[in-house]
Amino acid sequence: MILTDTHTHLYSDAFNEDRSEMIKRALEANVKRFFIPAIDSSYTEAMFQLEAAYPECMFLMMGLHPTSVKDNYETELQHVEAHLAKRHFYAVGEIGIDLYWDKSTLEIQKKAFKRQIQIAKQYQLPIVIHCREAFDEIFEVLDTENDDQLFGIFHCFTGTKAQAECAISYNMKLGIGGVATFKNGGIDQFLDTIDLKHIVLETDSPYLAPKPYRGKRNESAYLTKVLEKLSEIYKVSEEKIAEITTQNSKDIFGI
Ligand SMILES: [Zn+2]
Repeated sequence: MILTDTHTHLYSDAFNEDRSEMIKRALEANVKRFFIPAIDSSYTEAMFQLEAAYPECMFLMMGLHPTSVKDNYETELQHVEAHLAKRHFYAVGEIGIDLYWDKSTLEIQKKAFKRQIQIAKQYQLPIVIHCREAFDEIFEVLDTENDDQLFGIFHCFTGTKAQAECAISYNMKLGIGGVATFKNGGIDQFLDTIDLKHIVLETDSPYLAPKPYRGKRNESAYLTKVLEKLSEIYKVSEEKIAEITTQNSKDIFGI
């Protein structure tokens, strides 16, 4: 069985004490492929170090996270473009809109999101979307960029059934993580009505640990808890879910 963690910040400072042991635990739990979202230029070097240490299983993205869209966002976008011009990345992400942390930057968040979708299309790359309290705003931007070059993942999907269907209509897969294991998480109520061909697995480590680790530091090995929960929701074996979701990740990222 091969599990793919489509969204994990393994370069985070939260793992500075025990990164190699933590990655070993994931590999032993059959989590063999790790897709690494960018945040901003301050993390780029740490991402490259991670890739250099595990070249076979770490796949990097490049992008500017919405909570890092500040006054200097033009400079940050230049950093993103310069790196994409230099070498291959597997997605432009994570990008999107976050109105939980800061509503005052909405206009520049929208601009940075739209610009990065266009950059992704230029390189024929998928986008990986971060959405927090911003479904309407995200869909509004996606609508202006909706064509057959638009594809990717709606990371950490936590919306309603209607929002899930809307995301899928823009050619997005749904990234399902720890929230699916939470009581009152919501998505467990309707997820079995969404075909598994639209689903990929993720942890979003070090954030959003699944039950029974909720509130603690998350790590990629805990992807097995998300797998267990999906097996329960869909009444499909863990092996089959691992196979389908890993294949979905290959279709998206091209590896
Ligand atoms: Zn993330």
